[in-house]
Amino acid sequence: MAEPGKRSIVIVGGGIIGSTTAYFLTRHPKYNPALHSIHLIEATGIASGASGKAGGLIALWAYPSCLVPLSFKLHGELAREHNGVERWGYRGVHVGQIDLVGRHVSNQPKISANGDSKGDDIRGLHRPDVSSDGNVSLQKRSKESYANLRKAGMPDDLDWVAEECVQGYDSMGSPRDTAQVHPYQFTTSMAELAAEKGVKIILGSVDKIESSPSGEHTVKYTDKATNSQQSLSATDVIVTAGPWTKTVLPGTPIGALRAHSVTIRPTRPVSAYCLFTQLALPKNFKEGAKSRAMSVSPEVYARPNNEVYACGEGDHLAPLPKSTAEVQVDDSRCQDIVDYCASLSDELRDGEVLVRQACYLPQVETGAGPLVGLTKTKGVYLAAGHTCWGIQNGPGTGKLMSEFVFDGKALSANVSSLDPRKVLR
Ligand SMILES: Cc1cc2nc3c(=O)[nH]c(=O)nc-3n(C[C@H](O)[C@H](O)[C@H](O)COP(=O)(O)OP(=O)(O)OC[C@H]3O[C@@H](n4cnc5c(N)ncnc54)[C@H](O)[C@@H]3O)c2cc1C
Repeated sequence: MAEPGKRSIVIVGGGIIGSTTAYFLTRHPKYNPALHSIHLIEATGIASGASGKAGGLIALWAYPSCLVPLSFKLHGELAREHNGVERWGYRGVHVGQIDLVGRHVSNQPKISANGDSKGDDIRGLHRPDVSSDGNVSLQKRSKESYANLRKAGMPDDLDWVAEECVQGYDSMGSPRDTAQVHPYQFTTSMAELAAEKGVKIILGSVDKIESSPSGEHTVKYTDKATNSQQSLSATDVIVTAGPWTKTVLPGTPIGALRAHSVTIRPTRPVSAYCLFTQLALPKNFKEGAKSRAMSVSPEVYARPNNEVYACGEGDHLAPLPKSTAEVQVDDSRCQDIVDYCASLSDELRDGEVLVRQACYLPQVETGAGPLVGLTKTKGVYLAAGHTCWGIQNGPGTGKLMSEFVFDGKALSANVSSLDPRKVLR
């Protein structure tokens, strides 16, 4: 079939949504690099926002149901095609809701001026038994302990949560319907694979999209390297700027919620569980800090690279900055997450904190979301507002955006409920 003609496609934003969109555009049967140019413009760095700092859980039981099955299936296919097991840590995983009573935390890790604790002594006072030859006991459980924990619903191989903390466990997912990826590795791999097939990645911040009534667009941006104003003519512009979408497409109801997270290298490799915790903290649970008894719910995910990721609740204390480079990391919030982990696991308490970070979750202000599809301006498309399931729904969104561009409509899933035109002014 003859190609309809030249197309100049510009993607704004290099998070998971922009990167998977770039990837699937280059895998679309109608993509012809002789006729179609694709530019991805990213303000700071690929995966420098939430897409590089998320947990990376993917699940068939996520939402929205119109997008999840397609995207979950594509995650599996991408992992098989590109060796995702090695390249981005793809693996099946167990997920559970776990009720815990936290222990007092009597250590205060040192925090360096820049908040980076790497190399600092963060070991706790409740050290595991260390024998005279220096070996650290794994403190394996007794038969009685296993029996007690089984009564609470705990799987036997979830042995890195301190036994005395466990109140109850309910399975939410197993490797049949739940998996995980390392989000930074996955997103950057998608961008690299897209670039191998012809996508040009530009580091620059899009200031404005000007559209003519005939459907031609000019994307104006500030080039990062030269700090100069540049522009690209485009037949198609896909906005995937996550929480910054409003600044690129004014009037789009996408908000932002800051969230902190940490990664910890445990004292030994831990089994493949992602835990949604309900953690009751005793009064004054930190040494030297007065606090009331309270309940918190950090998510704690074991990763295959001998790393555990943990994130806390979101906050609106710092408004969305201009770019991912200017996100403020509140050390005390990161330290809270480290302490919650310490209060529930010896392996995490005595491990090494690797990263303390923050990012902004993109949220659709009118509820639900994400918004995926055409806008009211011909040739301008939107894929944003993926809330807490953007890693799970990235590949499906990218595939559908390639169909919107090359086929004029979504073919692989019915996402009419996510149509941006329903909420755009
Ligand atoms: C703590 C936390 C944990 C999470 N865990 C999970 C999880 O386990 N599983 C899951 O499925 N989801 C998870 N998520 C959600 C997921 O991270 C997001 O939904 C997803 O990353 C959003 O991707 P995005 O590409 O839309 O946005 P972003 O990752 O924010 O990317 C947007 C990009 O656009 C760029 N940009 C912005 N403005 C401009 C401009 N003017 N010009 C050029 N570029 C621009 C930014 O620099 C940025 O790189 C989590 C989120 C958080 C905060």
